[in-house]
Amino acid sequence: MVERMWLKPCPFCGHSILTTDQERDEWHVTCGHCHARGPISYGYDLCRESWNKLGNMAHPVPPETLKKLFGSFPDLPERDDK
Ligand SMILES: [Zn+2]
Repeated sequence: MVERMWLKPCPFCGHSILTTDQERDEWHVTCGHCHARGPISYGYDLCRESWNKLGNMAHPVPPETLKKLFGSFPDLPERDDK
């Protein structure tokens, strides 16, 4: 499901191809470019809010910082670009 509503660009790669995904009652925003996932939240609006808070941080945000902030954060996939 591709979202057209306003979300800040991905804090990792700067792209705006973002999807809002739902697994049962857990929601998260996923970047369609680098596949980074935002914090899991229990609601559509909440997960988008969490994602936009990521965008408020310095750009780009290193994964170590996110791990500190959110306790756990999925490892980023290997980058394709060489
Ligand atoms: Zn990204």
